[in-house]
Amino acid sequence: MTWRATALTLFPDMFPGPLGQSLAGRALEQGLWSVEARNLRTYGIGRHRVVDDTPFGGGAGMVMRPDVVSAAIRDVGREGRPLVYPTPRGRPLRQDDVRRYAGGPGLVLLCGRYEGVDERVLEAEQVEQVSIGDYILSGGEMAALVLLDSCVRLIPGVMGSEASGTEESFSDGLLEYPHYTKPASWEGRDVPDILLSGHHAAIAGWRQTESETATRMRRPDLWAAHLARTGQDTGGPVSLAADPERLH
Ligand code: SAM
Repeated sequence: MTWRATALTLFPDMFPGPLGQSLAGRALEQGLWSVEARNLRTYGIGRHRVVDDTPFGGGAGMVMRPDVVSAAIRDVGREGRPLVYPTPRGRPLRQDDVRRYAGGPGLVLLCGRYEGVDERVLEAEQVEQVSIGDYILSGGEMAALVLLDSCVRLIPGVMGSEASGTEESFSDGLLEYPHYTKPASWEGRDVPDILLSGHHAAIAGWRQTESETATRMRRPDLWAAHLARTGQDTGGPVSLAADPERLH
């Protein structure tokens, strides 16, 4: 069954955009997923197809009208697909959400512009609000593409090796260990000896330590959650075998 995405946007030509290339592009050609971009302007008011208006309460910028946005939403057959509005006001998007979205029938994505969408339509249509980071984009299309990319690569048959989906950052709540390839020595920097040892258990142990150290140093939020999950309440058993200077 094809995983279906519908984007509601003022800029339909932005889809599939970069997702027409590489892994996602091949999967699109193979029919493993599809994306339809619907122009919100179609649902605009009057001869000029107006989609926005000034904010009640004053202030800069324009707000997308609830009547226009709801008309677009109601015209889409959701067919069990979550309706997601990417917004900096949303909860942070996590790999768990991505797995849930990728495991379902697809997504409907509402792409905001201007100051965003009238709050009432978000409530009325039970829209999930997710943020892709603590910074402001000029529109929701790029965020929608990011979200789609993260989902599409998890659709069965899209990634070459299924293992690469289960061993990466966040799959066990930790950041991933660092990677090295040939040459073994490059500009005076050598690959850690252990990776050349052929000793699989020792390599696995080294990678686990690297994962834990990177998570502790770069993502205290993830580290705290990991400690709580594994029943540890201090910095505990993590050795700083990794070079902290490398982890900037
Ligand atoms: N006034 C809004 C605020 O401060 O929260 C920002 C509006 S932004 C200029 C326009 C649109 O871009 C938003 O409605 C949203 O769809 C999208 N957007 C911007 N930053 C985003 C982010 N970090 N994550 C997800 N979507 C984002």
